[in-house]
Amino acid sequence: MRRQIIKDIARDRVRILMANALNEVRGNEKIAHQQAYLAKKIAMRLRVRLDYEIRHLFCKKCKQFIIPGKDSRIRIGRTRTKCIRITCLKCGHTYHKILIKSYKDL
Ligand SMILES: [Zn+2]
Repeated sequence: MRRQIIKDIARDRVRILMANALNEVRGNEKIAHQQAYLAKKIAMRLRVRLDYEIRHLFCKKCKQFIIPGKDSRIRIGRTRTKCIRITCLKCGHTYHKILIKSYKDL
C-alpha cells in the first residue's frame, strides 16, 4: 500500500522532470540532461515503468537521454507492418516501434 503511494509520487516526479528537461533542451542542454538523468535514476531506483512518451526519450542500447530531432531520428517504416524507427545518433542503434495497435485509434 505505502509502496504504491511512493511509486505514484515517483512517477509524477519523473513526468515533471522529463517535461522540464524537454523545455530546457533549447535553452540549456546541460540542465536538460541532468534532469533526464535524475528522472531515470528515480525510475530505476523504484522500478517504475515509464510512459511510452518518456521511454522513447532514452536509447534502449546506450541508455542515454536522446532529444527527438537532435540526438535521435524518427522515421516511419515503409514495410507492411506499420512501425516507426527510432535511431539514436549517439550510438547508432536503431529500434522499431510497431504501431498496429494504435492504428485503430487514428
Ligand atoms: Zn544510443
